Amino acid sequence: MNRRQQILSSIPAVDELLKKEKIDELLFRYPRSIVVESIREYLAEYRQNILSLGDIEAESLTVSQNALVEGILGKVHSVMSNKLINVVNATGIVIHTNLGRSILTEKAKEQLWSIASRYSNLEFELESGQRGSRYSHVEDLICKLTGAEAAMVVNNNAAAVMLVLSTLAKDREVVVSRGQLVEIGGSFRVPDVMAQSGAVLREIGTTNKTHLTDYENAANENTAALMKVHTSNYKIMGFTEEAASEELVALGRKLELPVIEDLGSGVLLDLQKYGLPYEPTVQSAVKAGMDVVTFSGDKMLGGPQSGIIVGKREYIQKMRKNQLTRAFRIDKLTLAALESTLHLYLDEKTAVAEIPVLRMLTISIEELQKKAKRLQKKLVKRLGDKCSITVINENSEVGGGSMPMHKLPTKAVAITSQIISIDALEREIRSYKVPVVARISKDRLIIDVRTVMDDELDYIADALAYALMDKNFQRAGEGGGSI
Ligand SMILES: *Cc1c(COP(=O)(O)O)cnc(C)c1O
Repeated sequence: MNRRQQILSSIPAVDELLKKEKIDELLFRYPRSIVVESIREYLAEYRQNILSLGDIEAESLTVSQNALVEGILGKVHSVMSNKLINVVNATGIVIHTNLGRSILTEKAKEQLWSIASRYSNLEFELESGQRGSRYSHVEDLICKLTGAEAAMVVNNNAAAVMLVLSTLAKDREVVVSRGQLVEIGGSFRVPDVMAQSGAVLREIGTTNKTHLTDYENAANENTAALMKVHTSNYKIMGFTEEAASEELVALGRKLELPVIEDLGSGVLLDLQKYGLPYEPTVQSAVKAGMDVVTFSGDKMLGGPQSGIIVGKREYIQKMRKNQLTRAFRIDKLTLAALESTLHLYLDEKTAVAEIPVLRMLTISIEELQKKAKRLQKKLVKRLGDKCSITVINENSEVGGGSMPMHKLPTKAVAITSQIISIDALEREIRSYKVPVVARISKDRLIIDVRTVMDDELDYIADALAYALMDKNFQRAGEGGGSI
């Protein structure tokens, strides 16, 4: 028997493994069937690995029963733990699409849970006792905040744009400036969404310049609408021109065509007051006379993933009747979270103080400095002799394809270590049970405190301690991974 065959034949049977103390303990926590199945799967992978080794590697292979048992424990825990888990966002990117975009306010969380865990009047009119509409709960509030006549909400802004185009322009032309044919991360491309909706794109102007006359010249008997798209995630600079909203609206009136605007991010406050660049607000688009305006609920607005459509009542009513509305309809959890987020906007001060996206975007540099100092102090106490830990000036980003050129001055904790490479350190804290996502700049690990919540500072210290010495902490996702 060669070494490979020896090892393969020494692998214990499933029954025997089930008697091992540590595996036996698993049976108190998890169903037997899951444990047995995980052992079988693990052993199959284990055999396959041994079979795939070269002869020389196989000859020098050593295996321990302990490692086998540990491997099985890892497998069972991994099967039984959630794969969608919380992470600490130490990147400073506020609307981080890969890390869940906007995070909800405490109030939205409570309302969401309350509506989720009991029956509600989702589609029931309490006064008449008749069937109601899920869209009615937020319509008045959205109209009040934006100045629009009517409103409805769907799953996301991509769905909102699709619904608008399908309702108003199926098999007809929509005139759009070539400079506004945006692609948003992933697969949202204006020309493709247009094609999917059944509308025909009528591209006008050039990349840098589109004149009002270009719209007028393109309009014909088959034109259904004029459309403006906010170039959320890029800027065309230099020798440029685009039609102002008011001019476009006036042209629409003259030609008797609806004018649609995809605003992308749904900004409801003038953020210039807080030192941020100008971003068109929903109110300004409505005021300019746009017939239909769409925007995201989970970008600058700071609510749950959703797409909001506001505009003239006749158009919104048509959209409600479109079959796509059923496919795009908003879920009650989202609706609950959206309503409570929107409520906060009734008072600007409250909105800025309580909506995490707004709070993180408007936090003062003094506060950031204090938070960075607090983190530094904790880290020095825990890891002082193992790394160099300093507070530095850095830049954060808004993210979510909003304000692409704008750098927000921030404070960060920069870490270097003699014990471990920076790449390894970044990787290790990313595999901690509550993973910390940070970035590397100039050979230092950068923890931007703008997006770190106060109660997460200790997790960062734990994750770094884990990376630098104490491997007794759990791996990502094990034991829940919730904060
Ligand atoms: C982000 C964005 C979208 C897509 O919105 P989602 O809510 O992510 O579906 C569409 N149009 C523009 C201009 C955007 O910025």
